[in-house]
Amino acid sequence: MGSEATILGYVLAHEIAHVLQGIARHSATGIMRARWTDNDLRQMGIRVLAFTPEDVQLIRRLLAHRDASAGCSELLSAKL
Ligand SMILES: [Zn+2]
Repeated sequence: MGSEATILGYVLAHEIAHVLQGIARHSATGIMRARWTDNDLRQMGIRVLAFTPEDVQLIRRLLAHRDASAGCSELLSAKL
């Protein structure tokens, strides 16, 4: 079983991932599961609870889009 600090860390990772994914969804397993099970809490204790590949893909997609947008605004301001 994970300590309260460990669980808090996973709660923060879960909530930050919601922001970074930019859509309201949960996964069937892992950090983005809507309700963690006792087994999930045990996995937190040994630091092996993870994001699913789909969760990682969604985060990377939004970050890539944001990077591209930032590049465009830099380009526009450079022309002004
Ligand atoms: Zn959630």
